[in-house]
Amino acid sequence: MQKIANYINGQAVVSHSGRSQPVFDPATGVAHTEVSLATADETRAAISAAATAFASWSQVTPLNRARVMFKFKALLEQHRDELAVLISKEHGKVFSDAQGELTRGLEVVEFACGIPHLLKGEHSMNVGRGVDSFSLMQPLGVCAGITPFNFPAMVPLWMFPIAIACGNTFVLKPSEKDPTVPMRLAQLLTEAGLPPGVFNVINGDKTAVDVLLTDPAVQAVSFVGSTPIAEYVYATGSAHGKRVQALGGAKNHMLVMPDADLDQVSGALMGAAYGSAGERCMAISVVLCVGDAVADALVAKLQSEIAVLQVGPGTGVTPEPQMGPLVSQQHAAKVRSYIDAGVAEGAVLVADGRQVAADSAGFFVGPTLFDHVSSAMKIYREEIFGPVLCVVRVPSFAEGLALINQHEFGNGTAIFTASGEAAREFAAQVQVGMVGVNVPIPVPMAFHSFGGWKRSVFGPLNMHGPDGVRFYTRMKTITARWPSGSMPTGNQFSMPTMK
Ligand code: NAD
Repeated sequence: MQKIANYINGQAVVSHSGRSQPVFDPATGVAHTEVSLATADETRAAISAAATAFASWSQVTPLNRARVMFKFKALLEQHRDELAVLISKEHGKVFSDAQGELTRGLEVVEFACGIPHLLKGEHSMNVGRGVDSFSLMQPLGVCAGITPFNFPAMVPLWMFPIAIACGNTFVLKPSEKDPTVPMRLAQLLTEAGLPPGVFNVINGDKTAVDVLLTDPAVQAVSFVGSTPIAEYVYATGSAHGKRVQALGGAKNHMLVMPDADLDQVSGALMGAAYGSAGERCMAISVVLCVGDAVADALVAKLQSEIAVLQVGPGTGVTPEPQMGPLVSQQHAAKVRSYIDAGVAEGAVLVADGRQVAADSAGFFVGPTLFDHVSSAMKIYREEIFGPVLCVVRVPSFAEGLALINQHEFGNGTAIFTASGEAAREFAAQVQVGMVGVNVPIPVPMAFHSFGGWKRSVFGPLNMHGPDGVRFYTRMKTITARWPSGSMPTGNQFSMPTMK
């Protein structure tokens, strides 16, 4: 069986680790390839290639770095369908959803194409008589990215296009569950003219991650994944002197007001809860209905929509199903165990997705809906990361808002209402990083920054957009005076101030 290894110095490099794991097609449950799990030495080889490449890549002009990004963008467009099939075959999401993932990643490449403008820095003439001040935004060196399974293209693309365009070099450690697409991205970057060593891929697990977090040559680490690992990456990377941004898990609530259009709400919720089988960090997994009338009507609508929702393989079936399988057998079992827990805790199971699995060898769990969920229940408190939607009934806007603010996660949220006043109050008071007003999945565009609050994020700077450029550069401020008649002479012992 073909084994996926590493991409170092512009080429695929066979791993000698002796450790590997199967990569499955989640729709069939069959392993179609294996991925090697890199050794510490192999990881260090990738870091060393990146460190060597930094010396020359950081000197390439921003305009020429941007030109590589323009070519990479064209190649991504050319290979979009091929990449979307690869995503679907390893992640399980349906083809059109995989195309959407690529588009959102491509938009970050488009943002990175504007890097000459983004690196212009600041300039002030005459901060004092004959004295000018200006800032340079310089690259950091070797940056590392550690990414989750649920967006094997988009999340790496949140990171490396901006890092590289800023003049850094990069080592990516993608998820071992769906490693093929990151390797293809590396090949396409080489085809776009990126010099060897500027972008490297190490496939592996904790062994590789720990080297990236501790090796002195790595200057910055970007992480996206579950909260316990995000916290570990932040603490370990920071303790080793690195700049770290670590995005974690989520439990995103939608607050539905009595004046909301419930047809719009149920349409938005179906996609937000069950799209990509709920394996999105911005999926809505809790709907807070203000009043029983809203809850009764919405649950009835969702129930009839769920009854006709098609679950099936992400590719090769026409018409395309709305929902594919989960990523792995273990994850599907975990999601089913959450459904068991919800039943045991007394939530009302309106739609049960556990039965779908029995008909197929793939890792399917169907759309699941719980009503009368309380905030004490495990299915409310914990991230399930599957197609399970919990309805919580609240008496008022204020109590709905309070629940959201008390939850440990604060990635995304949404309010559905016809009231500008309620929407405005919600946006101002909610303790969450990304907020939708009648928009169910408010993922910021590439030229804004993406990130949550509370235990959904560790570190001050978010992904892509202006924060991405800040994260991957450090500022140097120069204050300059050229000899002139106004040069002060003699010794000055007091704190210098501008005259
Ligand atoms: P994960 O935390 O299991 O894995 C993420 C990465 O960390 C992978 O590359 C993995 O190999 C590595 N890793 C796993 N265990 C490790 C360990 N013990 N030590 C060092 N490295 C380790 O996450 P996942 O299951 O791949 O992805 C799903 C999670 O990601 C969900 O919690 C989801 O909410 C989150 N996510 C968050 C965002 C966001 O923007 N906040 C976006 C996408 C996914």
